[in-house]
Amino acid sequence: MIDRRLLLAGGGAALGLGLWRASSNAAERLDPLADFALTGRLSQGGWARGRAPFGTRTLLFNRRVLPLAPDRSFFIAFDRDSGPLGELVADFSGGEASKGQFAIAPRAWQIERIPLGPKPGAKPNPDYVRRREAELARIKAARSIDHASDGWRQKFLWPVNGRVSGRFGAQRIYNGVPGSYHSGMDIATGTSGTPFVAPAAGVVTLAAESSFSLEGRLLMIDHGMGLGSAFLHCSAHAVKTGDLVRQGQYIGKIGATGRATGPHLHWSIKWREARLDPLLFVGALPAG
Ligand SMILES: [Zn+2]
Repeated sequence: MIDRRLLLAGGGAALGLGLWRASSNAAERLDPLADFALTGRLSQGGWARGRAPFGTRTLLFNRRVLPLAPDRSFFIAFDRDSGPLGELVADFSGGEASKGQFAIAPRAWQIERIPLGPKPGAKPNPDYVRRREAELARIKAARSIDHASDGWRQKFLWPVNGRVSGRFGAQRIYNGVPGSYHSGMDIATGTSGTPFVAPAAGVVTLAAESSFSLEGRLLMIDHGMGLGSAFLHCSAHAVKTGDLVRQGQYIGKIGATGRATGPHLHWSIKWREARLDPLLFVGALPAG
C-alpha cells in the first residue's frame, strides 16, 4: 500500500475529512498547504507525522500536549482500539487557535487459537506472580524515560526478511480462553539465530540478559517522541542497555526464548500507551 498523504486544509473522502479551520484571522493568513500537512497511515494501529503551523506555541492531539521538534515536526499514532476521530489543536500566542479533525479508519481483526497458556481454571503460581511483577517493573522502567532520537522521522525497515507468522491485533484464544490480542507482528525465518537489524535509529532501553517468562530475551528501543520498538524471544543480543543504534544496525538474533511455539521475531511498536501495527510502518513484505 502507498502511504497516504492528508492535507488538512483540504481533505478527501478516502481519508476522511481533513478540515482544518483557522479560528482567527491571524491563523487564516498562514499557508495551509505549507503548514498543515500530515503524512502517514490514518487507521487503527497506524501513525502520522506532521508539522505544526508557524507560530504554534502548544500543539495538542486528542487534548494531550505533543512535543514539537525544533522544525515544528511532530509524531502521532492511533491505538489498535482507537476511536474514529483524531483532533489536532495548535495554540498560538495571544489566545488564537487552529483546529483540525480527521478520520481514523477502523480495522477488522483476526481471531487466532493458540494451544498454549494456562489451563482453564488453573490458579496462578505465586512464584510466577512474583517473578512476573519484577519483569513488568523492568519493562515499565525502560519505557519511563524519553530519549532523544530521530528514529521517529525515518521510514522504518523490516528488521529481518521472513514470513509474517502472526499479525498484529489478532484476538487470541489460549487453550479455549479468550486472552489479549496479539501485540506485535511475528516474523519467522524458519530457524533460530537469524540476525535482525534496527528498523529505525534509537536508544536501547532494555536488553534483558536473562529470559523473561513470556517475552524471553527482550530488547527494547526508544525511537524518540514516545515511539518505541520491542523485540521478543531473541536468542542473543548484539547491543546493551544504553547503546545508541543506527537504522539498519545488527542488534540481535531471532530465537524462541520465553513463551513461543517456535523461533520467530515478535516485533511490537508503541507510541505512548498506544499499541501500533508494525506492518503499517514498513509496508509490503520485502521480496525474496
Ligand atoms: Zn508475537
